[in-house]
Amino acid sequence: MTFLIVGSGGREHALAWSLRRENPGAPIFCAPGNPGTAPLATNLPIAADDLDAIAAAVETHDIGLTVIGPEVPLALGLADRLRAKGRLVVGPDAAAARIEASKAFSKDVMQAAGIPTASSRTFTDLHAALAYVDAHAEPLVVKASGLAAGKGAIVCDTRAEAAAAVRAMLGEGQFGEAGRVVVIEAFLVGEETSLLALTNGRDIELLPASQDHKRLLEGDRGPNTGGMGAYGPVSIATPQLLDRARREVIEPCLAELARRGAPFSGVLYAGLMVSPDGTPWVVEFNCRLGDPETQVVLPLVRAGLTTAFQRIARGEAPSPLDIDPHAFAVTTVLAARGYPDTPEKGAAITIPDQLPAGVTVFHAGTKQDADGTLRVNGGRVLNVTAVATSFAEAQTLSRAASEMITFDGKQYRRDIGWREAARR
Ligand code: AMP
Repeated sequence: MTFLIVGSGGREHALAWSLRRENPGAPIFCAPGNPGTAPLATNLPIAADDLDAIAAAVETHDIGLTVIGPEVPLALGLADRLRAKGRLVVGPDAAAARIEASKAFSKDVMQAAGIPTASSRTFTDLHAALAYVDAHAEPLVVKASGLAAGKGAIVCDTRAEAAAAVRAMLGEGQFGEAGRVVVIEAFLVGEETSLLALTNGRDIELLPASQDHKRLLEGDRGPNTGGMGAYGPVSIATPQLLDRARREVIEPCLAELARRGAPFSGVLYAGLMVSPDGTPWVVEFNCRLGDPETQVVLPLVRAGLTTAFQRIARGEAPSPLDIDPHAFAVTTVLAARGYPDTPEKGAAITIPDQLPAGVTVFHAGTKQDADGTLRVNGGRVLNVTAVATSFAEAQTLSRAASEMITFDGKQYRRDIGWREAARR
């Protein structure tokens, strides 16, 4: 089979790495991919949101299975277009991608399906939103409803902060279209966990649970980012919790989407806040694999990803994945100076030839000069993933390899997995 991976980040490099490992001789294309995918696949110079060019490439290269990484092409209807041509796709149609692309829709689905989630209200009117803030106890979370590259949620400790966030979105249009509809919700207490479910819309196969680190700085301080690192599996995701999440979160969400005529096929991502009593409260749904979660979850899959992808793309129940029961993975994101606001591009990157065994470097924001020099080309530059037979070793290896890779302005967290380390 011939594969196409749409996207250019660390998630897509990890997808290319997994598909290559499982399909040593198969043609694999990436649109557009990055310097890390180049040795594994054929990079096509097509942007992930250029739907016309991607649809044309699928015909030209007779792609058997397209895996769509990012949310934007899904929300724009790339999966619909490819399916209309009879092509197999991993990723939902635009109608089901609204579970991520519209937080207002997502909350509505959750409320209708009785899924545990923070109480909330949706607003388009500034004054009504301000009145709601006035009448509710802090902390409050103010969210731009539309896609905002992971930066549309503002956790507000005071009502004054919440009012300012509401004004920025509904009054000043600071979040553009994404902030014209605003969701204001109660603050949830607990520990976050990311759950990824491969699904044909009905049957599901869970990937190992992981935990992202959204804040820029060690100790979970500083601004929110797209994610500064992740690890998996997570010990709070016990079999009991996973069973509850399956029955109380994933299955009801899929059933409600189907009931609304928007059946979901692909990877459903549930961002959970696990409360002290063990309830899986939903913080958000995403319509695709997480980034950087994918960079720790896929290396734990020994075999079976390709088959499960092919089956869900055909509408069949996903086949079981062969997950290594003894492995732990930690990934550290190396970010550019100025990230997340205004990352500085251009610095030369040095990756030593001899990195410790068990370490894989997934590229994200990199580019390569004609002479082979690797350069910083985005906010999150590299993901340094280590796999080992203990959590502590994976953590140590990821950190050690992150130190060995150099570029001017490199910033990264040395405490990825600190909650897990504290539990052990
Ligand atoms: P979101 O874009 O909805 O995933 O939110 C980004 C981050 O903000 C989440 O990963 C949480 O850390 C935090 N967050 C969002 N909503 C809530 C909430 N209701 N309670 C507590 N933290 C939240």
